[in-house]
Amino acid sequence: MALLVLPRALDASVEQLPNVGPLNAKRLAKLGIKTVRDLLLTLPFGFETYGGPTEIATLEPGTQATVVGIVTSVTAKITRNRRMKLTEAVLGDGSGGKLRIAWFNQMYLAKQLHKGDRIAVAGTVKRGYAGLLEMQNPHHEKLAADEEVQPSRVGGLMPKYHLVDGLTSRRIASWVSSALPLADHIEDLLPEEVRAPHHLLGVVEAVQRGHRPEGDAEFREARRRMAFAELFELQAAFATMRANIALEPATKIPYRQDVIDAFKTGLGFDLTTAQRKATWDAFKDMDRAVPMNRLLDGDVGSGKTAVAAACAAMVHAAGMQSVVMAPTEILARQHLRRFRAYLEASFPDLRVELLVSGLGAPERRRVRTAAASGHCALVVGTHALIEDDVEFANLGLAVVDEQHRFGTRQRELLRAKGQGRPHFLAMTATPIPRTLALASYGEMTLSVIDEMPPGRTPVETEVIEPDERDRAYDLVRAEIRAGHQAFVICPLIEESEVLAAKSATAEYERLKKEVFTDLELGLIHGRLKEKDDVMQRFVAGEIQVLVATAVVEVGVDVPNATVMMIEGAERFGLAQLHQFRGRVGRGSAASRCLLLSSDTTESSLERLTLLTRIADGFTLAEEDMRIRGMGELMGARQHGMSDAAMESLRTPELLSEVRQEAERVLASDPGFEHHPLLKAAVARRLELTSIS
Ligand code: ADP
Ligand code: MG
Repeated sequence: MALLVLPRALDASVEQLPNVGPLNAKRLAKLGIKTVRDLLLTLPFGFETYGGPTEIATLEPGTQATVVGIVTSVTAKITRNRRMKLTEAVLGDGSGGKLRIAWFNQMYLAKQLHKGDRIAVAGTVKRGYAGLLEMQNPHHEKLAADEEVQPSRVGGLMPKYHLVDGLTSRRIASWVSSALPLADHIEDLLPEEVRAPHHLLGVVEAVQRGHRPEGDAEFREARRRMAFAELFELQAAFATMRANIALEPATKIPYRQDVIDAFKTGLGFDLTTAQRKATWDAFKDMDRAVPMNRLLDGDVGSGKTAVAAACAAMVHAAGMQSVVMAPTEILARQHLRRFRAYLEASFPDLRVELLVSGLGAPERRRVRTAAASGHCALVVGTHALIEDDVEFANLGLAVVDEQHRFGTRQRELLRAKGQGRPHFLAMTATPIPRTLALASYGEMTLSVIDEMPPGRTPVETEVIEPDERDRAYDLVRAEIRAGHQAFVICPLIEESEVLAAKSATAEYERLKKEVFTDLELGLIHGRLKEKDDVMQRFVAGEIQVLVATAVVEVGVDVPNATVMMIEGAERFGLAQLHQFRGRVGRGSAASRCLLLSSDTTESSLERLTLLTRIADGFTLAEEDMRIRGMGELMGARQHGMSDAAMESLRTPELLSEVRQEAERVLASDPGFEHHPLLKAAVARRLELTSIS
């Protein structure tokens, strides 16, 4: 193959490999695989071990096996109850047994396979209908009739790669095969002095063994090396960022006891211990000439806003301004009310203003002028804040709420609104395990609010299977009768059109006509112009049932809402479901969360059941991680990490070791000048984060 002798072949697009083509290249790109090097560096996440061909008569249900046999029948049909497309075949091998094969949603197979074909299948053996042995969705390979011909592509050890629609592990494995001869040329980014003490394989060996291990031990060694290298690269980038940030001067915000005393007096409640600790962390950071760069992570309703307000008060006392950016207008308006309530009584000259694009031009101009002249101490708003014409006289603090909803670029634009570098506080209500937070937000310091304000009743959560839907509606009705309000959440309209079974609009119409005919319904979704209007009517109690997409995910506070019904719950991550659930249980009345799932497989139900048992977001995240692995928990790509790296974080000491190594190398070689590969990788990471 000519490709293999080209220099720089590792940097070539995967499209250059045989049988990839533009469509598959696009699919691979979704997995973060663009070049041949990327492909080689992406190890399988596991292997299926089917072993060599076994006779049907000796198959054991519950095991993985390879079977070679003759097709005795093939039929295509649609299943009656779940309306799935099914290709069914029966296989015999002369051993006296029969094996039923069922392939779902692969109708083309019915055309490709014929009675009398000799094929190999590899899959898990089950005891199926009428006691017949069966395999569902096995891998298969058509073989020549000649008995001598053995399967070459199925059976034995088969790698499992992460996939997107249209790809199979087998196809990826075949592309890896054609690229594998190039593995010898992959350069090692891990310095020898880091590799040796941790007994890590070199990159070439890791790639070769990782895709083609002799056994499980070899595979795990290869994965460990890859995960370490990836975390190391990431931590090297974070160490560089921290070093860069520390170079830029910020204005010190001196700590003043009288300010915090006044703040507490005006607040109307006592700060929780966790809030006090987070506030104190931030005050210490801001009292330095190095800009604060802190992430405040706390469950929905844990009271992050009060911490931000305390910071704004301190910044104001130092004669500087603060800005708070939220992802939606609804949330920005709620912040406006809340910051005013927290601050204006104790600090009469601390003006809080709102800047969102929904404002009229004269009002926008007025707020812009107030910000630019230094007249207002705190501006809360949405993306409208980062427009060019918004300026601040002397910005001391920038806060981003629900920070995961913004790109790095947007956060940077907000920070750039100051003359120097403002202190920076990011807030998130995505409780994630501490190690993961440190691994993925390594350039920030972390404060965790792991305590709820007193007086909350936990939300009673229930998983409701499809045939119990009416019971869910009855529960909703009962709450409404008691004078409360309800949310019905549908899968997002625009973000996942493919997966969204019901658009919120259709669901709203249906509920109005067929289910809650006597109730006042409202609809809210991202594309709706009159979002705020609808929300106001819900807050005012005029709407009894609010049908919504994920817009309401973020911190809207309606204490009278006591029931949250979530459609297609299995499609959301647990963290997101937990966030939805946080919309209720905000008042003193007992609240419910009803998770409707159309996926009744055991694993899916088990996952949802976690929510019924666990009320605390952090514990939930840890449990979800234990069950599914970190990668799936958060979406590895979202954290810029492979699942192998995520997985390795389960060893808690690993991260701090990697971090120390990265810092040690950076300290001995500032800018990684003597580690060119590492330098380039770090530069790439930094560039990625600045445009994401
Ligand atoms: P988060 O933004 O972390 O989800 P909020 O800041 O919106 O939470 O706070 C949720 C609610 O709890 C608000 O109504 C807030 O006024 C109230 N709250 C916050 N801290 C306390 C506290 N220490 N004691 C009582 N209520 C509090
Ligand atoms: Mg909030």
